[in-house]
Amino acid sequence: MKINIEKIRKDFPVLHQEVNGKPLVYFDNAASTQKPKVVIDRIANYYANEHSNIHRGVHSLSAAATEEYEAARKTVQAHLNATHDHEIIFTKGTTDGINLVANGFRSILKEGDEVLISELEHHSNIVPWQMACEGTGAKLKVIPINDQGEWIMEEFHNLLSDRTKLVAVNHVSNALGTINPVEEVIHAAHSKNIPVLLDGAQATPHMGVNVQDLDCEFYALSGHKLFGPTGIGVLYGKEDWLNKLPPYQGGGDMIKSVSFEKTTYNELPFKFEAGTPNIAGVLGLKSAIDYVTAIGLDVIAEYEQELLEYGTEKLSQIEGSKIYGTAKNKASVISFLLEGIHPYDTGTILDKLGIAVRTGHHCTEPIMTRFGIPGTVRASFAFYNTKEEIDKLYDGILRVKKMFG
Ligand code: PMP
Repeated sequence: MKINIEKIRKDFPVLHQEVNGKPLVYFDNAASTQKPKVVIDRIANYYANEHSNIHRGVHSLSAAATEEYEAARKTVQAHLNATHDHEIIFTKGTTDGINLVANGFRSILKEGDEVLISELEHHSNIVPWQMACEGTGAKLKVIPINDQGEWIMEEFHNLLSDRTKLVAVNHVSNALGTINPVEEVIHAAHSKNIPVLLDGAQATPHMGVNVQDLDCEFYALSGHKLFGPTGIGVLYGKEDWLNKLPPYQGGGDMIKSVSFEKTTYNELPFKFEAGTPNIAGVLGLKSAIDYVTAIGLDVIAEYEQELLEYGTEKLSQIEGSKIYGTAKNKASVISFLLEGIHPYDTGTILDKLGIAVRTGHHCTEPIMTRFGIPGTVRASFAFYNTKEEIDKLYDGILRVKKMFG
């Protein structure tokens, strides 16, 4: 099946506007994706007609909201192919999910233990582990990357040891687009009984993810990168691991009973969902998942690969342009620099032309340090983008070069 681009673009109201007098070209999808009308309508309808707090009320509105909320959990379960719906924890996003696990590992890690991450991580998969290590005396170890922006797998295998208590790595890199060989990592880690957490923030918008096939212990994602609302995300965890970890936050919903002498915690998934959750966000996320499922994640992946190839070829034609992240296996992200031109200047001129790209370190300062650069210009494509838009980017870059070259 081919993508029906005209129909799809109509589904996204935000795309049909002018920015600085030019039709918007939105190439900042790795930072956050736009929302189809079904998602926006779902949230509006919830607040207009259905709102009530969940899990607590006997009245009809509350029961209906609870049912919708729990139905969304089942949608996510099916989307990720988790074994149980109680392995799906609703969080604020990827950052929140990683922090939940890192907080739990504070009660597991001891002096001399190691947490293995990679040089390719977003800050949200570095800092929580640094904090956990600081509090426990454990050490952070880092898989280095090569010039293409790929993990050096030999080094990974050397770093994996009996001291490693967790491997926490990203599935797809936000800064360079590398699709990482997580299967090999999980296989090697499991041969030493080491659990693996995957940061799936950038994988889930581009590909189908099957957590049972992957066999990872934890998988974190963000709703807003998956065409859903901000402030909502998912942490998948294997049942036995979620049972092993202590609660992240205390409060309502996460308890079975409370007295001043002793509190007993609720079972999964509620143990990790303290307080009134983001009900509208959960319902919006369900709509977003239904939307991309209807298009087909394989159809999306194929079309985005076409955009990536086209964009890479166009940008490579420009003299003085250098692409950072040239892995064999890549998602639709192109990070680049123009010789002698600061990324902020490039981004500012492109914005004047209505083209939204991201500039800077993309919350991955260690990658920029690795390449000895202050940051990059990043164009990241979603399935609502077109080759014509990439042509506009190409023309825009020529304009930037003329101004600053
Ligand atoms: N990991 C990766 C790879 C990301 O791209 C991002 C978002 N840029 C995050 C984690 C953090 O996601 P969020 O800000 O939605 O929590």
